[in-house]
Amino acid sequence: MALQSVIDDLAKRPGTGELIPVIDPATEEQITEFRDAGPEAVDEAVARAKAAYQSGVWTDIAARERAKVLWRLGDLIDEHAKEFTELESLDAGMPPAQAEMIVSTCAEFFRYYAGWCTKLNGASYQVQMEGGVNSTHANFHAYTHKEPYGVVGLIYPWNGPLFNACAKVAPALAAGCSSVVKPAEETPLSAVLLEKLIAQAGVPDGVTNFVIGYGATAGAAITAHPDVEKVAFTGSTEVGKQIMRDSADNLKKVTLELGGKSPVLIYSDADLDMAIMMASMGIFVHSGQGCVCGSRIFVQRSVYERVVAGIAMIGDNLVLGGPKDEGAMISPLVSQKQLDRVLGYIDQGKKDGVEIVSGGYRLDRKGYFVKPTVVTGVDPATSRLYREEIFGPVVTILPFDDDDEAVAMANDTSYGLAATAWTTNLARAHDLGKRLNAGMVGLNCQLTFDHNVPFGGYQQSGVGKEFGYEGIDAYLKTKSIWAAL
Ligand code: NAD
Repeated sequence: MALQSVIDDLAKRPGTGELIPVIDPATEEQITEFRDAGPEAVDEAVARAKAAYQSGVWTDIAARERAKVLWRLGDLIDEHAKEFTELESLDAGMPPAQAEMIVSTCAEFFRYYAGWCTKLNGASYQVQMEGGVNSTHANFHAYTHKEPYGVVGLIYPWNGPLFNACAKVAPALAAGCSSVVKPAEETPLSAVLLEKLIAQAGVPDGVTNFVIGYGATAGAAITAHPDVEKVAFTGSTEVGKQIMRDSADNLKKVTLELGGKSPVLIYSDADLDMAIMMASMGIFVHSGQGCVCGSRIFVQRSVYERVVAGIAMIGDNLVLGGPKDEGAMISPLVSQKQLDRVLGYIDQGKKDGVEIVSGGYRLDRKGYFVKPTVVTGVDPATSRLYREEIFGPVVTILPFDDDDEAVAMANDTSYGLAATAWTTNLARAHDLGKRLNAGMVGLNCQLTFDHNVPFGGYQQSGVGKEFGYEGIDAYLKTKSIWAAL
């Protein structure tokens, strides 16, 4: 499917709400526009999903058949990798090599979860009960049975559209759920192609239903809908809290993958060249629009100056640009809104008297580009730039003297998504693995990911996990069944 036909299909989607422009963030030009799907479209999508679920057309087929469909879908995504790469580049402004790398991981979500389809087993228990209500039966066989949630809502952000979609659609399908899926309004293009491939792979009508619209309209309607049993959401902590509140009325279950302000500890005994390079890419890649980006770096005092200079130098030399810019390594921010947000934090920092070591300004060209920005001299107690998630290419660097101080500073946050420690002292590394208060800790590595390893945050960075077995268990209910012997 050619790029233009995806764009045309998006523009033709039915909807009742206002027109939403799709903007190329690297040029600020409008690619197309489409109508906000709105609450009516959500009602229809939920009705379709519920009917499909109740008919058993997907849930009741043999697990090995579901697995084959998922595998086929993975292969189709691979076959269309070039188109997906173009779509993600255009929509999110990503340099093609970055988009290609992300797209290459997406098909695997379907193959990975295809494997789980045939392995969703409960457990069995032998129970002896003395006396009890039914005194004739002292022995019981009890077992658990795994059942899919009926209709689930899957809501995801713009920072890796296809990746986020696949991370949710694949386990939901493998578990046997029907779903209503909402991409971010800023980056809807890859969803249009994915929707087509889902049908082509053999997922029956009504099982996976995309609605494309605003969060406040389509998204909120999914969360409020009484027939949606569970919502799996990736996005900001603020909206995650709103979703939890909106889900309270019918006690919907939620999985929330939220924001972060992830610490990176660099010790003087670390492989410093590697640590400086990885810590730089760990914040500047995709202009800092990654949930696990390490936006607070702490450096042992004896190597502090060297690390600050090294990260600033790398930030200065990274080539920013969009898909059409020769040699571009770093994408723009996704929207004017995101640009205003990031520049607002930088301005606030300047008013607070922080030191901007490098960057700190918007590029003088079209597109939402902010120069990678290194900040020192923040007051950890009061600086908003230091404490709040910016989701941009802005990093604060502070010195520390010993382990206790480093851990205390790293853990002094309401978030808890990821943390990293760079040190060649093995005992210290594993000790930090336990002491850092985050759902994911990298020891001498950053930006690591595997479909089989649980992903998710502590504290206000989330509820529940994605990926691995926990990622599919999030779409399953556990029923206990008792049989009197
Ligand atoms: P966002 O919370 O504004 O939006 C995310 C999605 O929620 C979008 O589809 C949006 O339309 C929808 N939405 C907005 N308001 C809604 C509402 N009231 N009800 C239902 N849905 C609603 O987030 P964003 O700005 O698009 O993305 C950036 C955020 O996502 C950052 O905070 C980042 O850390 C987080 N994120 C987290 C992870 C993770 O795995 N932990 C991964 C990627 C991004």
